[in-house]
Amino acid sequence: MRKSTFYIFQYIFLLLLITGVLPAQAEDSVSNSFNTTGQVKILPVTQTCTGKPWQHIVWVHVHDNEETARQTALMALNQIQQGCLLDFRHGGSREIRIQTNDVNYYFDPNRIFTETGRKNALKCLRGNCAQAREELTQEVDGFLNQYMIHAKLIVALHNNHPSGLSIRNYVPGGSMAHGMSQVAVSPDKDPHDFFYVTSQRAFEFLSGRSFNVVLQNNQTVRDDGSLSVWAARQEIDYINSEAGTGNLASQMVMLAAVWAYMQEYYL
Ligand SMILES: [Zn+2]
Repeated sequence: MRKSTFYIFQYIFLLLLITGVLPAQAEDSVSNSFNTTGQVKILPVTQTCTGKPWQHIVWVHVHDNEETARQTALMALNQIQQGCLLDFRHGGSREIRIQTNDVNYYFDPNRIFTETGRKNALKCLRGNCAQAREELTQEVDGFLNQYMIHAKLIVALHNNHPSGLSIRNYVPGGSMAHGMSQVAVSPDKDPHDFFYVTSQRAFEFLSGRSFNVVLQNNQTVRDDGSLSVWAARQEIDYINSEAGTGNLASQMVMLAAVWAYMQEYYL
């Protein structure tokens, strides 16, 4: 995608956003709070599609409290009229809590995609915790095998808070600098609006368009069980589009850049 074409895309996205001309959402939701045997489903995955799914591209939203990211993703899919969003819906909280007569535990759904991550992330308060860990492992494996393992590109969507994460945390000396290999800081952008990527190609593409971008060092990154760590191990291109809560317009512009990247390399 040439830069001039990209800017046109960016303009069209914003124009549609501002004028509110959004086509009716074609939704194909599969919401599972319970599985077929009536047990609580541990990962409450909803899939929303507009038009045909992409062959090897997955968009995913795992933190149910990050509403700006969800809305942005759904609006972008409506504009594109293709593709699906995998969305974890579980009562609007960041963490997923499983509470039954037998067990009570909770976990951050973006810390469970590796074994080490799960071990640290699962907070078990009551009941058979070993069994809970085993069930979570099976559920995560099923999710990865069904939705993720065949992807060539994963696009994750997140939001952060004014006192939370920003690109500043990733610059040398910052709290998140360890395990990163490059960081690009744009003076034009809100520091809370940044991309977190796992490939040099995505880093070059997005930083070349004046976004804040951090490139994970896939060799030295700490295994915290996040999807970026799992994707890097599988050599799947991963882009997290992360924006400040409420920064809907800028997250939309970020997704326009992701769309340009998808068209350049995957479609
Ligand atoms: Zn998040």
